[in-house]
Amino acid sequence: MSKSLQAIRGMNDILPEQTPLWRYFEGTVARLLDNYGYRQIRMPIVEFTELFKRSIGEVTDIVEKEMYTFDDRNGDSLTLRPEGTAACVRAVLEHGITGGGQVQKLWYVGPMFRHERPQKGRYRQFHQIGLEVFNLEGPDIDAELIVMTWRLWGELGLRDAVKLELNSLGTSESRGRYREALVEFLSAHIDKLDEDSQRRLKTNPLRVLDTKNAETQAILVDAPKMADYLDDESRAHFEGLKARLDAVGIPYVINPKLVRGLDYYSKTVFEWVTDKLGAQGTVCAGGRYDGLVEQMGGKPTPGVGFAMGIERLVLMLEALEKVPEELSRQVDVYLCAFGEAAELAALALSERVRDQLPNLRLQINAGAGSFKSQFKKADKSGALYALILGDDELAQQVVGFKPLRGQGEQQSIAWDALAAHLATCVVQG
Ligand code: ATP
Ligand code: MG
Repeated sequence: MSKSLQAIRGMNDILPEQTPLWRYFEGTVARLLDNYGYRQIRMPIVEFTELFKRSIGEVTDIVEKEMYTFDDRNGDSLTLRPEGTAACVRAVLEHGITGGGQVQKLWYVGPMFRHERPQKGRYRQFHQIGLEVFNLEGPDIDAELIVMTWRLWGELGLRDAVKLELNSLGTSESRGRYREALVEFLSAHIDKLDEDSQRRLKTNPLRVLDTKNAETQAILVDAPKMADYLDDESRAHFEGLKARLDAVGIPYVINPKLVRGLDYYSKTVFEWVTDKLGAQGTVCAGGRYDGLVEQMGGKPTPGVGFAMGIERLVLMLEALEKVPEELSRQVDVYLCAFGEAAELAALALSERVRDQLPNLRLQINAGAGSFKSQFKKADKSGALYALILGDDELAQQVVGFKPLRGQGEQQSIAWDALAAHLATCVVQG
């Protein structure tokens, strides 16, 4: 007997019980982004491997060990996208839509792939909603990104459970000066650093700040601080951002060790973190990447963006019991019909009702069945009302209208009056 087929570890099915919450979350974000004037872009899931190497950086966790890379049949090296920014930059360059300083405010949603150790909140196929803004260089747009996410947490009921961490990485010049100072400091302590940090010290020293190792963390307490190396322009930019967050009343903490995993950030970096998910605490992360477009072959083009992890936010909504009550019910009305003639009439009637009430969630019984079995299905569907159409109702051109939850007697409603009646008793989304 053949081994039963299974999904790949870390790549999950999202079952019908879970999709209402996903759609609620994605719908809430999409509406919010529409309202702020952002437009959706859809990129392919597979790109040339070179794209990610060039944009994310060779010496990053993603490129070093997390990418799903394979050869196409014609020998091209392709990679399942581990994040969205690279492809988005590739797309705007390819289509010339950021040329001449054109502002683009774009967002995307979809699966990303990273070969990580699967655990709660960390998967190999996961989903992000991300956003990128091109050709705006001021702190006003950095602030808008954060203000939007703050509004989102408000709409979802998550404000009390998330914390905003901020840092500025400066321009590449000031970051270069800081990197030198950090390398000098860490080199003096190299024997006490964990193995990973020793390696990073040579390849990508800023990432040492990101270490989870307690001894290395202790050494870092006395390390030079990026804030002391910021150039005037970056400092003014950071002050401008903070002033705007203060104006809206968004609380934040400055985290001098926040460097982010990707190479391309400059100036603003931020993360929304929670302590409700255990170790996988970052739900949204982003920052400014003014050098990236040029690095990828375009004209100098300021950029800023973020991405949030949908799985982690869905987990949070569940953990904090912020799942809206109404998501549990998917059906408003269940229509039962008994006998062939009644079934035909029920189908025609249901289509008339749908014409009049396009948002009504009406499920018509399929597969016939006895009175008892159809009623059981009506009840199980979660519907608020059952409609009943048998020979008697057919003769009189009425339906039986039976409340399934709570009070109320069954009554007869004329076919012509059915839509109007349903409109009064079913709240329509
Ligand atoms: P982490 O430090 O948790 O590995 P990261 O810095 O690699 O995160 P980003 O590349 O900034 O993550 O991605 C943005 C967001 O996408 C993260 O904050 C997180 O919410 C989500 N995310 C990243 N990797 C995964 C994953 N493997 N599984 C689920 N969600 C993820
Ligand atoms: Mg990661």
